[in-house]
Amino acid sequence: MKCKMCGEEKRLIDAHIIPRSFYEPLKENGRTPRIVTDVAGEYPKRSQTGVYDKEIVCESCEQLFSPWDDYGYRFLFQELNDEQFIRKDGEIVAYNFGKCDYEKLKLFFLSVLWRASVSKHKIFEKVQLGPFEEKLRQMLLEKDPGDNSEFAVALSKFDASANETGILNPDKTRYDGVVHYRFYMGGYMAVIKVSSQRASETFEKLYISEGNDVFCIVREFEQSREFRALVNVAKNANRPAKI
Ligand SMILES: [Zn+2]
Repeated sequence: MKCKMCGEEKRLIDAHIIPRSFYEPLKENGRTPRIVTDVAGEYPKRSQTGVYDKEIVCESCEQLFSPWDDYGYRFLFQELNDEQFIRKDGEIVAYNFGKCDYEKLKLFFLSVLWRASVSKHKIFEKVQLGPFEEKLRQMLLEKDPGDNSEFAVALSKFDASANETGILNPDKTRYDGVVHYRFYMGGYMAVIKVSSQRASETFEKLYISEGNDVFCIVREFEQSREFRALVNVAKNANRPAKI
């Protein structure tokens, strides 16, 4: 079969769309992570290993993803110290992860987006990137994370994940009219802009960008004034002291 990344006729392997490691932390309390889907006719399934697709990539192309997958996992599941929690009126409203390896972190999210786009698995059917799919493929092959003009990533974590250990199927939404895809993994929601339109100033502040601290908002993204105020609180909080 033809590998969707390199285009060569090769034996394709079982490739995860969302890396297998992301299903692990959800097993901590002994529960198997649940893949929740609202796709018609698909009932919530429980899966030990997560969703994989054997019609996407060959082994060498899959290896392209592995340093990004490792980094994405280690970054999102790093232990945070108390100073990294940003509070408002005593309540945690955001995390400051501090600096990241922008190239690896961004390529991790972009590669998950690409894998979801080329997968024919029903869980990922809402991820339809059109001409952006080929752009992404080129960027991944060239290990080019790009800037935030077309693809940009923001993070949130909301409390729903605490009681429902779920990985939801990704979906498409618009924030201030700009197309974003939402991926739910390991208790986080990663929002990925797929558009050459500029997002609102609030989102521009939140997108992961080179040389800047990475924030995660402990709320659902919304367009309210409260949300905008929250982002400003997070961005203006004192930077955590890093050793
Ligand atoms: Zn290949």
